[in-house]
Amino acid sequence: MMKRILFMRSFLVMLGLFASSDALFGAARSAASMPDNGIQKTTEETKDAFDVIVVGAGVAGLACAKKLKENDKNCKVLVLEGNNRIGGRIWTDRSLGEKIPVDLGAGWIHGPDGNPITDIAKNVGLAQWFNHTFTRGSSMFDVRGNSESRTRLWDLGKELKQYASDLFEEDEKVGDQSVQAIVDQFVRVRNLTQDDALLINNWVRWVIESDYAATASKLSLSQPLTDLGGKEDSPFQGDDVLLTEYDRIIDYLATGLDIRLNEKVTEIAYDLDGVTVSSASGKKITAQYVVCTVPLGVLKHGDITFTPDLPTSKKNAINRLQMGILDKIVLEFPTKFWPHSLSYVTETQGQASNFFDYSHYVPKPILIGFIAGDAAQELEDKKDEEIIHGVMTTLRSTQDWKTIPMPDPEKYLITRWGKNPFSYGSYSFVPVGGSREDYKVMAEPVAGKIFFAGEATNYNHPATVHGAYLSGIREADRIIKPVGAVAV
Ligand SMILES: Cc1cc2nc3c(=O)[nH]c(=O)nc-3n(C[C@H](O)[C@H](O)[C@H](O)COP(=O)(O)OP(=O)(O)OC[C@H]3O[C@@H](n4cnc5c(N)ncnc54)[C@H](O)[C@@H]3O)c2cc1C
Repeated sequence: MMKRILFMRSFLVMLGLFASSDALFGAARSAASMPDNGIQKTTEETKDAFDVIVVGAGVAGLACAKKLKENDKNCKVLVLEGNNRIGGRIWTDRSLGEKIPVDLGAGWIHGPDGNPITDIAKNVGLAQWFNHTFTRGSSMFDVRGNSESRTRLWDLGKELKQYASDLFEEDEKVGDQSVQAIVDQFVRVRNLTQDDALLINNWVRWVIESDYAATASKLSLSQPLTDLGGKEDSPFQGDDVLLTEYDRIIDYLATGLDIRLNEKVTEIAYDLDGVTVSSASGKKITAQYVVCTVPLGVLKHGDITFTPDLPTSKKNAINRLQMGILDKIVLEFPTKFWPHSLSYVTETQGQASNFFDYSHYVPKPILIGFIAGDAAQELEDKKDEEIIHGVMTTLRSTQDWKTIPMPDPEKYLITRWGKNPFSYGSYSFVPVGGSREDYKVMAEPVAGKIFFAGEATNYNHPATVHGAYLSGIREADRIIKPVGAVAV
């Protein structure tokens, strides 16, 4: 069945008749009509030609491959993964102990109600976290290390949201400005005291910069406006849920799939007959279609050559969108010295800006620090010892804890997502000068042969696990359904 659909699809693509999706139709037509278009006839073929090659075994790639196999078990789907593990930006570390799983990448399900990841999580035995009562805690500390009024912080955050939404309603162009520009304007117009100005900037560090992995002066207001204005438009609601073992979702999606590790793809060549995917190990594997799910950072870095080159619109979108950085610093202490209710300590920009009490989830005194944007980029160049020293200085400067003896951590884990050669960053964001529309261009297929999935191709839910998952399903559907529009 799959074979027939794939054949039909190739045939229709050749005739320029395939699919009602503008992007696909347009791409197929333009490729076919170029007289000297550089499309090379594939010459090197392996015997084991596949129907579909999926590049990347992150959540998008696995969801796509699984859906293709579920649709037709005879469909020959191969997943090529450059790294020596599957999961990509879902990465559960167990080096602190088998019973101490720590997610170095994604940790939360954002908006669990109605979220497809929720169903999988419950199926694979992670249901207990949906009833876990620990929320984000109640103690917060300001930049000078003093306990501060959490209520005031949230009130100011709410006011800023309203302020930004009102401006946006008056003139949508306000979305072209940076988040920081609007924060500065808010401080000026509202004539905030120095303390309140500090608080609102802390709120931005904590809520916006951590969520978007980008420094507020670089992040276009257009992206978090939905957050600033409330997330009521999202189909996925509810308080975020921390899973602790996100890789169980990955294992579930990967079951039964043909996955080859350590196959770093270096070239995707395509013509009207199909695709040839080359890897650093020297293999060339052919297929009818390829679904490229590598992160935006990998595309920006030019690690994969597309032959012929990608359309200019796609290249422009790749150039314009940016990869943000969110890093985690996991600290295991000999004793739990912090109060039960601790959730976050806010700090000056350039230091770990907030800490999460992980001892609510695992039987060890562990704090996880988060650092985002430019501050994270700077941190990644530092030595481990220097980073730990900086983090401990931050914690020890907390006014309320000055009398508490604070031991050094016994063990630690530090991520450096910006330097990770399989992502070059944590997740995508829209910078000042960019546009959310670029996410739609990222999702456009090329020549009816190359399909794109991954968080940075999801206009509605970028930078999330569920966004990546849905993009994989979307591209599987695009391949499965010979005719008919596919939601982007
Ligand atoms: C620190 C951090 C915290 C996060 N927190 C959350 C959170 O709490 N909740 C949430 O919803 N999301 C979170 N995210 C975002 C979420 O992890 C991602 O959006 C999602 O996992 C991306 O999935 P993907 O399949 O698009 O990409 P990836 O998971 O990156 O998969 C792409 C795959 O392609 C592989 N690859 C790269 N280059 C090549 C190549 N040349 N050849 C072959 N394979 C290649 C990679 O190794 C990888 O396995 C977080 C991310 C990070 C880094």
